[in-house]
Amino acid sequence: MTYTKRPDGRKFDEPRKMEAKVGIIKRADGSAMFKMGDTIAIAAVYGPRELHPRFLQNPERGTLRCVYDMLSFSVPDRKRPGPSRRGTEISMVTENSLLSVVNLDQFPNAVVDVFINITQANAGTRCAGINAAVMALADAGIPMRDLVSAISVGKVGDKVVCDLDKDEEDYEEGSTDIPVAIVPRTGEVILLQLDGSIKKEELKEALKMAKKTCDDIYKIQKKALKKAYQEFQNE
Ligand code: UDP
Repeated sequence: MTYTKRPDGRKFDEPRKMEAKVGIIKRADGSAMFKMGDTIAIAAVYGPRELHPRFLQNPERGTLRCVYDMLSFSVPDRKRPGPSRRGTEISMVTENSLLSVVNLDQFPNAVVDVFINITQANAGTRCAGINAAVMALADAGIPMRDLVSAISVGKVGDKVVCDLDKDEEDYEEGSTDIPVAIVPRTGEVILLQLDGSIKKEELKEALKMAKKTCDDIYKIQKKALKKAYQEFQNE
């Protein structure tokens, strides 16, 4: 089935409009917001601080803990509040992605907590969450070798597309969703999940699209971080 036109009129390789802001929660050690179309993620970082209970402490390096949560009224059909299998899985993949760049060697026995809240969801929330979380970690001054940029690519009908929205994920002729996270400076892929099916050549094309879009996301993230620190200097 030929997929001719995206619901919001975007080109097949065009992401939704993105926006980023750093330093949005005063009480947190670091915080950030990342918006992709109608999907909004907010991240708050607390720590490094001593980890309790003490038997959880690692004397060799600090521990990173991520909690992803989608708020009840972030979606048209109210989402049941509290933990879920989906939330646990997304928290885990987010934590693993961030661990690829974060260095907690200087903080033995300590913990860095990252809370990601999705206040509005229209697909791509794990990617928006990762983009916000990594900026919040940088804002908290946590040592990192680079940022992480994430985007969902995939296939809708017969077309390879960038940044699927919910209508596209639910496309009745079938869709494939591939969230990808990249370390921008090296191009290293640190997260790749695949929900659906795709041919090898199409996957290559999708990954190329992801790399290009992540380069743009990286620029947006860096700009937001620089802006926060310029404002801080001018205070
Ligand atoms: N969604 C929903 N209710 C839920 C879970 C998900 O309406 O309980 C919607 C929401 O818009 C989400 C989308 O389904 O962004 C896709 O969810 P998925 O698990 O694929 O993760 P995401 O694309 O958000 O990373």
